[in-house]
Amino acid sequence: MSPINLNRAHMPEQEPNIRAHNFAEVNTGLTPELAKQEAARCLFCKKPTCIEGCPVHINIPHFIQAILEDHPDEAVRRIRVDNSLPAICGRVCPQETQCEEKCVLAKKGAPIAIGALERFVGDHAIRACILPDMSNVRANGRKIAIIGSGPSGLTCAGELIKFGYAVTVFEALHELGGVLSYGIPEFRLPKEMIVKCEIDTLKNMGVQFVPNAVIGKIHTIPELQDMGYDAIYIATGAGYPTFMNIPGEDLNYVYSANEFLTRVNLMQAFKGDQSATPIYIGKRVAVIGGGNTALDSARSALRLGAEKVYIVYRRSEAEMPGRAEEIKHAKEEGIDFQLLTLPLEYLSHPNGSVRAMRCIRMELAEPDASGRRKPVPIAGSEFEFQIDSAVVAIGTQANPIIAATTPGLETNKWGYITANESGETNLKNVFAGGDIVSGSATVILAMGAGRTAAGQIHESLNSAK
Ligand code: FAD
Ligand code: SF4
Repeated sequence: MSPINLNRAHMPEQEPNIRAHNFAEVNTGLTPELAKQEAARCLFCKKPTCIEGCPVHINIPHFIQAILEDHPDEAVRRIRVDNSLPAICGRVCPQETQCEEKCVLAKKGAPIAIGALERFVGDHAIRACILPDMSNVRANGRKIAIIGSGPSGLTCAGELIKFGYAVTVFEALHELGGVLSYGIPEFRLPKEMIVKCEIDTLKNMGVQFVPNAVIGKIHTIPELQDMGYDAIYIATGAGYPTFMNIPGEDLNYVYSANEFLTRVNLMQAFKGDQSATPIYIGKRVAVIGGGNTALDSARSALRLGAEKVYIVYRRSEAEMPGRAEEIKHAKEEGIDFQLLTLPLEYLSHPNGSVRAMRCIRMELAEPDASGRRKPVPIAGSEFEFQIDSAVVAIGTQANPIIAATTPGLETNKWGYITANESGETNLKNVFAGGDIVSGSATVILAMGAGRTAAGQIHESLNSAK
């Protein structure tokens, strides 16, 4: 038996000083040799703890075995049993707190690079055009409407089409993909090569997409039911911006992260002067928040040409909810982390645009309701610094439009739709999942909810026959 190898294969990436000035993907992916080398480290445990750490319980050693045996097509087949979007999850899942944290090798050294191997398999499926096998699927004569084309809606669509339903996805925006398209930037998740390809796979399987269709405006849910849809899955996400409600937030060039990233990604402001809708950020940009959205905004601002970009976060790095890899990459690229710092107000130029930010330093006290140590202000530590623009990335909320136009649909006190573990709402044959039920969470949890709801829709419609 060969000795345990505790060192993982290194994911090739662009150099920090180069990538900080372009929107091309930071990580360039494992080569087949590196993937095989990494797969060879797996112990193929009898009780694989990595699977327990995965929210959708992907059979991780099963697909790693196929990589090791040089059968990438088989690895695709195996991973797709539990995950229909591996090229996306391999790039964006917080593996360090999920499967990789639970890998037995993590106790002594580097866990298996499960995310990198998942990405390798997902990319192989795209490159080799391996489509899911639909040869045994027979149309069952029933139709389903899905509202929202983010990861939850896409996953639900992919599952239902395999059961033989006619599936139509209604999307409010002109581009499909939800946060995968308008939120997560190109340098983390390439749109043409990955997101569009995954959506094209669904189109090839027969899923119909209707973009520019705001449900609640063009049709309501009762109208969709009248149009003959047997069941409806609501997957509208939580894209409504939140602000701190501090003085000066209404100044020019104080953006919500939602607006900023949508303009950079979807409206292609990253093309600079060649974009029809460029965005002004100036030389000094402050981004408020510590999650993936804040990190994505800060790193996008750097790539748009800002000379100095600050992350302003009221807790310490240990409490930052962003992916570990993104925090590491942001630091390497030169983002200035102003930790334990709370913005108090934005100060204005005479013309109404922002010129500075007044903040106060914080210290950590006892853990609060979220289990994280509570930040409290340090008296007398207020200070000011000059900025030309700011991006507020402190979280999002539910968009109220569906609840407001669907009589009787139950929501909780924050406006999120109430659904049980199977995705059933209080209305017959109306299901919901992803961020619109859980609040802002992760891609894999949104996908898991979509898959569970698809199973429940199938069961409910068949038991109702
Ligand atoms: P969304 O992805 O929000 O999709 C909802 C879709 O519904 C949107 O396309 C929206 O336009 C559409 N819609 C809304 N209302 C209507 C309507 N009335 N009619 C029709 N369509 C409608 N998670 C991770 O796991 N890893 C990460 O690295 C990560 N980074 C992130 C970075 C950013 C900038 C953001 C904002 C989020 C990030 N997340 C990350 C979180 C993750 O993207 C979300 O949890 C996930 O996308 C939720 O999926 P969803 O399908 O529920 O909703
Ligand atoms: Fe392989 Fe780690 Fe999973 Fe064991 S726990 S099967 S070593 S990935």
